[in-house]
Amino acid sequence: MSDTIWQNHAQEAKRLDAEDQLSHLRDRYFIPENMIYLAGNSLGPAPKAAFSEVAKAVEQEWANGLVASWNSAGWFAMPETIGDRIGQLIGAAAGQTVLCDTVSLNLFKTLHAAADLRPDRKVIVAEASSFPTDLYVAEGVIKTRSNMELQLERPGGPMLEELINEDTAVVLINHVDYKTGALRDMVALTRKIHAAGAIAIWDLCHSAGVLPVELDTAQADFAVGCTYKYLNAGPGAPGFIYVAERHHTNLSQPLSGWWGHAAPFTFEIGYRSAPGIRAMLTGTQPIISGRIINAALDAIADVSMADLRTKNLKLTDYFIKLVAPICTKYGATITTPIPHHERGGQVSIMFEDGYPVIRALMSRDVVGDFRAPDTMRFGFPPAYIRFTDVLKAAQTLDDVLSNGIWENKEYQQKGAVT
Ligand SMILES: *Cc1c(COP(=O)(O)O)cnc(C)c1O
Repeated sequence: MSDTIWQNHAQEAKRLDAEDQLSHLRDRYFIPENMIYLAGNSLGPAPKAAFSEVAKAVEQEWANGLVASWNSAGWFAMPETIGDRIGQLIGAAAGQTVLCDTVSLNLFKTLHAAADLRPDRKVIVAEASSFPTDLYVAEGVIKTRSNMELQLERPGGPMLEELINEDTAVVLINHVDYKTGALRDMVALTRKIHAAGAIAIWDLCHSAGVLPVELDTAQADFAVGCTYKYLNAGPGAPGFIYVAERHHTNLSQPLSGWWGHAAPFTFEIGYRSAPGIRAMLTGTQPIISGRIINAALDAIADVSMADLRTKNLKLTDYFIKLVAPICTKYGATITTPIPHHERGGQVSIMFEDGYPVIRALMSRDVVGDFRAPDTMRFGFPPAYIRFTDVLKAAQTLDDVLSNGIWENKEYQQKGAVT
């Protein structure tokens, strides 16, 4: 596109930034200078308060407090205290959310716990398009249960709704598809799952922290999610599990470790499950890493998820408007749904040579990511992305495609992590 068109856009972007009621939040994050960071849906940037939170946890609580800190610094209670804080963001009343482990491990525990609630049923339904670890873990779960099988929704059919019937024990659904950014209707789908007598597990990895989630209202049964994407808690920060209170009395899961025991410090022989949500725990948690979540949640504590979502949609609308003509010109396709109620926090563009394009963008300080075989992803966390960033990203994409910059050999080589 011509320079004059971009200049006109520049005025609009500046105006949108000036009108932005959330612009003050950006200063709470460490964003490397000149970087347009659109990979916050993969690894969120550091909240500045993370540095002092880690220093406090290491210097005061660990170095000076040592073993007493399990009580005095609330380390042992952390899965529930931070779990409840996350619960506030995902529409979960207190006592139903715990912070622990990785999403993969949490899926293993949750799928078993859900299947145990429907012992006469033999099918787990999931999406072929799911983030692969969800399916890998589901495979591992059915291997350890007799006669269970996994049935997958596939592009072109069968659809999820067609697979759900009286044989279905559990349905595992991604609230937002990691690749396309498509958002599911949690209320409607949970209702269908319940009408068939099955249990719903929602994976919130790509929705928690960027859009309003209402687990209690939707009557979800279980949910899992991670904290290092839109929740900005850093690489390897623990994930979370939600279990609706109505299931707490029958809760069982196979990784029955001491942290999930009813009385871990009586050191008794034989496992007795803790009452309530702690039953989902297994062993000692990564305290230092988990603590960063406090800093991340503090950074958005004075704004509402509804306001964050409104800005996120404005950002993605704006990006789509700017890149649509570029995509048409170069044979790329926007795969993220256009209707707001079907769109997550990101915009995905399908382009066969997406990988070198992403690399070329990165060399120009515009950071997105690539998901094989052909998807370029751009995330728009509303707390720190500006409209002028969106404009710069679109303009850089135009430059990379129109000048064939991505065809340069140096951008073809893949690293271990893409
Ligand atoms: C990021 C993500 C995960 C990550 O799983 P870990 O075990 O924490 O590495 C799992 N599922 C989905 C849908 C994700 O987006």
